[in-house]
Amino acid sequence: MSPIDSILGIPGLVVQAVKRAQDIHVWAKPRRRPVCPHCAADPVRIKATHPRTLTHTRQGNQLMVLHLSVPKYHCTRCNRYFRHPFPGIRARLRATETYRLEVFEAHDGGVSQRKLTRTHRIGSATVERWYQSFVRQRVSELSGRSCP
Ligand SMILES: [Zn+2]
Repeated sequence: MSPIDSILGIPGLVVQAVKRAQDIHVWAKPRRRPVCPHCAADPVRIKATHPRTLTHTRQGNQLMVLHLSVPKYHCTRCNRYFRHPFPGIRARLRATETYRLEVFEAHDGGVSQRKLTRTHRIGSATVERWYQSFVRQRVSELSGRSCP
């Protein structure tokens, strides 16, 4: 495992290129095709590949920006389409769960929204939204535990 792989912490990725500038840019794609989530057929064929850019983590004073190749698959058995599922990356968001958690924990630990807008380059409204989202998630986890 290269240092970049361990920093990424997202299993199943192949790192294709790394460019260190003001930010650290990492290009990656899935290591292997998944089985069809609908009928478990294997293999599926790649219909198209879309680029997706996500902020992922902060390394020292640099942001790590992840450029992902996201394949869209077609299952020839059940004739359905699906996108590659990446653990720790939710649909439509422009940041990974690692990044959102980093911001939540920093804010929870007392780092101000103003400081986070500088260090993590996000608006304070986003800090607030991510914070509330994790608080709700924790509350529902806790309430789930108290009533089995
Ligand atoms: Zn299928």
